[in-house]
Amino acid sequence: MTAIVEKQSAHEWRERRIVPEQMEKYLQNGRDFIDDELIDSKIRMTAQPDAARVREIIAKAKAIQSLDLDETAALLAVKDPELWAEMRQAAAEIKHTVYDNRIVTFAPLYLSNACVNNCLYCGLRCENDVVERRTLTMDEIRAETEVLAGKIGHKRLIVVYGEHPRSDLKYMQESIRAVYGVKVPARRGHGQIRRVNINAAPMPTEELRELPAIGVGTYQVFQETYHKATYRAVHPAGTLKSDYRWRLYTMHRALEAGIEDVGIGALFGLYDWRFEVMGLVAHALELERALGIGPHTVSFPRLEPAANTPFNESLRWQVSDEDFEKVVVVLRLAVPYAGMIVTCRENPGMRRRLLPLGCTQTDASSNIGVGGYQDEEQHGDRQQFLLADTRTLDEVVRDLAAMGNITSFCTAGYRCGRTGHCIMDLLRSGAEGKFCKLNAILTFREWLDDFASDATRAAGEPLLKKEIEEVRQKMPRAFDEFMKSYERICQGERDLYF
Ligand code: SAM
Ligand code: SF4
Repeated sequence: MTAIVEKQSAHEWRERRIVPEQMEKYLQNGRDFIDDELIDSKIRMTAQPDAARVREIIAKAKAIQSLDLDETAALLAVKDPELWAEMRQAAAEIKHTVYDNRIVTFAPLYLSNACVNNCLYCGLRCENDVVERRTLTMDEIRAETEVLAGKIGHKRLIVVYGEHPRSDLKYMQESIRAVYGVKVPARRGHGQIRRVNINAAPMPTEELRELPAIGVGTYQVFQETYHKATYRAVHPAGTLKSDYRWRLYTMHRALEAGIEDVGIGALFGLYDWRFEVMGLVAHALELERALGIGPHTVSFPRLEPAANTPFNESLRWQVSDEDFEKVVVVLRLAVPYAGMIVTCRENPGMRRRLLPLGCTQTDASSNIGVGGYQDEEQHGDRQQFLLADTRTLDEVVRDLAAMGNITSFCTAGYRCGRTGHCIMDLLRSGAEGKFCKLNAILTFREWLDDFASDATRAAGEPLLKKEIEEVRQKMPRAFDEFMKSYERICQGERDLYF
């Protein structure tokens, strides 16, 4: 009986979610900004671009200017290995110009795996009856956060919700407050989550307006596939998620509702990877055109196997490792200011290959089973897909240090109002990098003292020395002030930032 009542109320709830005016108002002449035929023709018809044209496009990207669709299509059409080598090199340089050698880390926190949708590729789809459904209580959320913030040492989370009345706006508000409320003693200072980003299904404008007040950083929604016929095929008709445009215009609504940092993404493996790259670029350009702010982050998850999910076992559009590198390179060039996220869906070797090509953020110590952090086990029967990299944050930080990267735990930008328009201008001009460098050093110092193993500390210290020396040379006017903060952190003070 309860199950029937729950099914009915889920149905009613579903009926009330979509507000047609809140997507139709953005259409131009009744059309959305993804023209499938046009994109298809651009990626199929583009003849080999000549080398001079490719170099012109590379130069534009290196000046941190967004590429248009023709330019992106030209890069996607390059076959010449030498030109690809130049594009890879340019991608690495752009990453360096905008984000230096910093990599931001975070962890996903799945709070509820109940979902009304039935996406064919997802382990959490409602018809997958091998999944044990669970929605964490506030006490359970605090317990998960204690592990993440107090034991592992994360400062940033991406909190993930299925789409279901059990994880409605009220639940999101309470759960985010619960996460921010946790403060746990660490070796010298304390552990605390300082930035909560969320990945949650498209919401109506009235609900989105509530999110900044509770401290939501980036709001992330992936379009999955920009190709409409594929979208229809993998999101069964009648489900909430089957409405392509409701999802496509989520970020327009979010920016209008006052959320300044939005994250877009496509799930690679559903359709031709070139089309999805074009879709992501079209989305970024449209946000810039319509709202003056591009995406804060771009994600490019690759489809992974999931329990009892045959759809993922024989994918026509599976993306090879070689092509996946091209995805990252072209995105880095086309949307040069955006953060780019590579996740634990990729194995350690692949992450090492992708990071230098322009990625700026990565997760670590991830567990995507609901309630998974407390029992420290991976649970295939509670999670959306299987992870390819289950290394700890400590191991990842050490690995990044070996590659010359400093792990940044900085969350200052968002708390100082460096978001939205402001951050885009700062990133384009290279000015944001200066704040970030100082804050990356301060937060790395904190983390080494509070959470690092001896081996990771040993790997991190020389890197810190080198970074401090760079500040002395490149930012002499800020150096003294910066060193005062650094010393205070060494004495045990926490959360100082520029
Ligand atoms: N229910 C929310 C939604 O659909 O927007 C939350 C999203 S889900 C928990 C986070 C993302 O995981 C999805 O948007 C999708 O891109 C990705 N995902 C789903 N199934 C996957 C799989 N089998 N392998 C890799 N990524 C997957
Ligand atoms: Fe639900 Fe999101 Fe999974 Fe689709 S991808 S079944 S909406 S959790």
